[in-house]
Amino acid sequence: MKRWSNALQDNYGTPTIELVSGKGSYVKDLDGTLYLDFLAGIATNVLGHAHPAIVKAVTKQVSVLGHVSNFYAHPNVLELAEKLQKMTGDKSARVFFCNSGAEANEAALKLSRRTGRSRIVATREAFHGRTMGSLSLTGQPSKRDPFKPLLGGVVHVPFGDSRAMKKKINKRTAMVIVEPIMGEAGVIVPPADYLQNLRQYCDESGALLVFDCVQTGIGRTGDWFGYEYSGVKPDVITLAKGLGGGLPLGAMIAIGPASHLFQAGDHGSTFGGNPIATAAALAVLSSIEKEKILPNVNELSSFLFTEISLIPGVIEVRGAGLLIGIELEKPVAKDLVKKCQELGLLINAPGNTVIRIAPALNISMRDAKKFVSIFAAALKEVGNV
Ligand SMILES: *Cc1c(COP(=O)(O)O)cnc(C)c1O
Repeated sequence: MKRWSNALQDNYGTPTIELVSGKGSYVKDLDGTLYLDFLAGIATNVLGHAHPAIVKAVTKQVSVLGHVSNFYAHPNVLELAEKLQKMTGDKSARVFFCNSGAEANEAALKLSRRTGRSRIVATREAFHGRTMGSLSLTGQPSKRDPFKPLLGGVVHVPFGDSRAMKKKINKRTAMVIVEPIMGEAGVIVPPADYLQNLRQYCDESGALLVFDCVQTGIGRTGDWFGYEYSGVKPDVITLAKGLGGGLPLGAMIAIGPASHLFQAGDHGSTFGGNPIATAAALAVLSSIEKEKILPNVNELSSFLFTEISLIPGVIEVRGAGLLIGIELEKPVAKDLVKKCQELGLLINAPGNTVIRIAPALNISMRDAKKFVSIFAAALKEVGNV
């Protein structure tokens, strides 16, 4: 890992293992050690590693036409945009493609300026990305403070607090942005009527309602989009992570009047909607349908919720589908991640007392059981320290 610190910047800290290959829910490191991957590239590899449909689609595309730019149309871009439009259940939906979650939220931010307003309401502890615009929406002081001054006109209110939102939304508000479930903040689920309330306040004030589904989209919660349980329809949906199944792809989908706010020349991305990344996304979406992966998410989710909550040292299990936050009795989350890695399991700790798991959506019951047994054993070891 000396090579890492000699050639890479310090922004991530230095990793402890180097991964070289993967298949399904397993990855292998340089020494040949196998790990059960319950983080899946941070909620990204929704079909696991080296899924045949993605391998085939990407290989085929790169050998025919790798990149064309948005000066030209491409069949994959058209097909994927139509597919996403259909998934929203609204023919008025229009798609903008980019390469990441931060870019998808940047696009939403710029779109909102086209309302003629500039105020934004976001939530504390939310994560919307790290570029200066998306960081201005992100509500985590540790990530924001070193980079102030950020974009003006953005206020952050406590997540899940409808009243606090209502107080801040007015006729000058361009947009309201929330994660349907906060991911990076430690998998925080809002009250059941929260999204409905936000819809009402935005309708009353004319503000755009933006759901950042970068982490909760593409089947992660058992639905196509993380907000669907609420029955509410947003004006804007942002996507990335799972969309490309491991290839870099993001999207900003605007619905209704918002879908025509951008004029020609208003925004762009050289790589956005790249033929290879969109080929992967088409393979992701069709495999989720063909392999009946959403029912698998729901089945494995209820198994994991039940089993994990029985493990001594766990005080709460929360989330939806296969985005699960595990609250621990003691602040041993970082040690637990390390111990699990030693025992051949990859997970993540967004805080000192919380573990996040976000495995591939097609994991088997066998691997779910294996997760439970390794996790329980590891927690027993670190809990006793
Ligand atoms: C990861 C994430 C982002 C940022 O995505 P990048 O691709 O890292 O820019 C934005 N919003 C949410 C909810 C995320 O989980």
